[in-house]
Amino acid sequence: MKSFILLVFGLVLSSNLSFSQKKAPKLLVGIIVDQMSYDYLYRYYSNFGKNGFKRLMDQGYNFRNVTYNYVPTYTGPGHASVYTGTTPSNHGIVANDWYQREYGRFVNCVEDTTVSAIGTASSSGRCSPHFLRANTITDQLKLTYPNAKVVGVSIKDRGAILPSGHMPDGAYWYDYSTGNFITSTYYSNVYPGWYGSFITANPISKYLGQTWELSKDSTLYTVRNDNSKYELPLGGKELPVFPYNFSDKSQAEQVGLFTATPFANTYLTDFAITAMKGENMGDDLTTDFLTISYSTPDIVGHEYGPYSLEIEDVYYRLDEELNKLFLALDKEVGKGNYVVMLSADHAVVPVPQYLTDHKLPGGYLFKDARLEELKALCMEEFQVDPILTVGNNNVYLKEEFLNHESTEAIIAFIQKEIEKWPEVKAVYSRDQLKSIPANNWQEMTAQGYDRERSGEIIYILQPGYLSKSEDTEESRKGTSHGSSFNYDTQVPALIYGLGKGDVYTPYEIIDLAATLVHVMNIQRPNAMTGKPMVEALVKSK
Ligand code: ZN
Ligand code: ZN
Ligand code: ZN
Repeated sequence: MKSFILLVFGLVLSSNLSFSQKKAPKLLVGIIVDQMSYDYLYRYYSNFGKNGFKRLMDQGYNFRNVTYNYVPTYTGPGHASVYTGTTPSNHGIVANDWYQREYGRFVNCVEDTTVSAIGTASSSGRCSPHFLRANTITDQLKLTYPNAKVVGVSIKDRGAILPSGHMPDGAYWYDYSTGNFITSTYYSNVYPGWYGSFITANPISKYLGQTWELSKDSTLYTVRNDNSKYELPLGGKELPVFPYNFSDKSQAEQVGLFTATPFANTYLTDFAITAMKGENMGDDLTTDFLTISYSTPDIVGHEYGPYSLEIEDVYYRLDEELNKLFLALDKEVGKGNYVVMLSADHAVVPVPQYLTDHKLPGGYLFKDARLEELKALCMEEFQVDPILTVGNNNVYLKEEFLNHESTEAIIAFIQKEIEKWPEVKAVYSRDQLKSIPANNWQEMTAQGYDRERSGEIIYILQPGYLSKSEDTEESRKGTSHGSSFNYDTQVPALIYGLGKGDVYTPYEIIDLAATLVHVMNIQRPNAMTGKPMVEALVKSK
């Protein structure tokens, strides 16, 4: 009798859950393309197939003015901001790594020494979202509907962990020692059954050793010069030119270099589709949420820059992976039953040396020499060196100078000295960043500031500049991101499955999650500050 009552109650409960969410899609798919600049959508458009990026652009909402609203524009903060709908000042992921005072060292934004890896002996599995201070939209979905399925996958640990939040059914990332997808005991002590089948059917050996050549006729590419002096050749190759094949390398080296080839996008897509099917995602009326983060575009982008043949081909091949993913969604979940959001965690600056060679503003801050100089000046002024370390343009003071009678004088002095550096646009002290001011650059820095994890002084560089340790031939090749300028902040923002249109209203990156909560009919997560992108939501009744 008791079990009968429970059974009836359970049926009523689950039908209510279905009813309350009945207008929500069966599945949400959140795709982050790591380092994807907004203009790639158009630069590569004519060579995209019908059913990849173009399907999202032409049959979905294309928000054409979406920018990041904080610095630093790095991977960890980017993924956390997209999925929490707020800035690092609220979710606490202020960089990929920051100086954690109680650990006495820099920490990775998803490292967690209290958990163990599953399926690998390497430390790359010891990860969780425990540093994430705010709830994600995927957390809010699980909180509201515990039977909703949430799974996150990526090559990078942070790309899988931050989007899927604190309580997903699984988060999986690439293990650089074995080439397998792995997880940690934070999530589960065992792998699900579908995972074992994937490893058997798709071992890493199936993907390794392939030759990366241009996927299209070379005349179709927007870039003509393969052998550019601004590119860093992969895997110790002499010249940065096609074809790329690493099968003469050791297994360990091949497993590492693999993530810098488009075949890693294929591996990830195959894994994502297997996870979706294996977890029965999108098979009932409760909305499920699959997050996918493609890391390879960032890894290749750092080496070759945004105007390379290599990055262009990565996008044409990724377009084919999206086609495969969307066909699987049509088949498994059904057209009209799912919504796809695609954006990026940041974009990228052209190689600064390329900019200066072409008479454009840009350059490098070689920080080791500048830091030595600054320390010497501090010694002269205060007879001590108060600087503990500098990372991500944050200056951290030694513990004993945090609440010292000279703290304010030390901070003011360092600030005044860094302001003299011609590579620097502005310098802010912790007191200036504790409240959000109206000035754009200071506001963006304040939105990225956390009083425990950030330094006592933060500087931002001039447009087109990158910070490097020292001036070497290598440091003037390849590129990065992290700034508050448009080349780093403007990203694609596509939502497919709700209707279509090009929208020019300016939005911030944190508005994407604030829109998706209305697609799922759930409450805004705890610290969300984004605003809904109403054009995608307003429907006539
Ligand atoms: Zn990134
Ligand atoms: Zn090249
Ligand atoms: Zn990057």
